Amino acid sequence: MFTRLRTIALAGLVFLSPLAAGAASAKKLNVVASFSIIGDFARHVGGDRIDLRSLVGANGDPHVYEPRPGDVRTIAAADIVLVNGLQFEGFLRRLIEASRTKAPVVELTKGIQLLRSREQAHSQGQPGHHHHHGDYDPHAWQAVPNARVYVKNIAKAFCSVDPSSCKTYETNAKVFDASLTALDAEIRATIASIPPHKRVVMTAHEAFGYFAHEYGLTFLAPEGLSTDTEASASGIASLIRQIKQDNVSAVFVENITDPRLVQRIATETGAKMAGELYSDALSGPDGPAATYVDMMKHNASTIRKAIVPDVP
Ligand SMILES: [Zn+2]
Repeated sequence: MFTRLRTIALAGLVFLSPLAAGAASAKKLNVVASFSIIGDFARHVGGDRIDLRSLVGANGDPHVYEPRPGDVRTIAAADIVLVNGLQFEGFLRRLIEASRTKAPVVELTKGIQLLRSREQAHSQGQPGHHHHHGDYDPHAWQAVPNARVYVKNIAKAFCSVDPSSCKTYETNAKVFDASLTALDAEIRATIASIPPHKRVVMTAHEAFGYFAHEYGLTFLAPEGLSTDTEASASGIASLIRQIKQDNVSAVFVENITDPRLVQRIATETGAKMAGELYSDALSGPDGPAATYVDMMKHNASTIRKAIVPDVP
């Protein structure tokens, strides 16, 4: 939403930037990513040409993140700020304003075929209904073809603020894109080994809409697209009825949310608790989802092992 304004401001800034002066020893591009998954994309594209900070770190929940005072200074010092957009980062607008940054704020979901939020689809034809969370599901990175668009957008954005290293950014992006293409094929093969009628699972919030759409599964969840509102009692009751009626193969907690609600629903329905999926954040460096590629592999194989443990 602020991207266009910042781009105009940027046109004037390019000539003042020491990076544009072509000095080989110029300081690294100062990049701020809003959360850990975008940080991982940026690290692959930027390599050693950038200094990178991610505001919401490992296992953090970007929906409800409370900025720290240091975050204002981090953004104020940025050459470029990379964000998801689609109202995913609820903390972002005020933080950007408080920092008075002149750096471009780039929404990386531009150009992606977005999924409408289910709330939006349900409320069509109801004039006066106000949407708190936007019309689209923001969790676009959960489908690998979309991750490839994030990476392209990052390379383009880095080239616009740091043209002297553009070739490097483009080469890095191409190398990473090849590993994303391989990852996509691997996930398709993993999910293909699950019989279609068993591909119904439950998680804590609606973070896996793009994964479900891309790879052919159904995800149920007590909480909606954001974690900032609690699941309603009637919503939980109808979910429990649905789980008892349909065959939900497995129930997963998420790394960013309190596991208790999911555990309670599993207990009440007798559904099988089957581990942890990584939704809106990576794990720490020693965890199973320290990078985006590892996160996606972990999620796909955790789901597959829960439903068809006998397949090697
Ligand atoms: Zn989420």
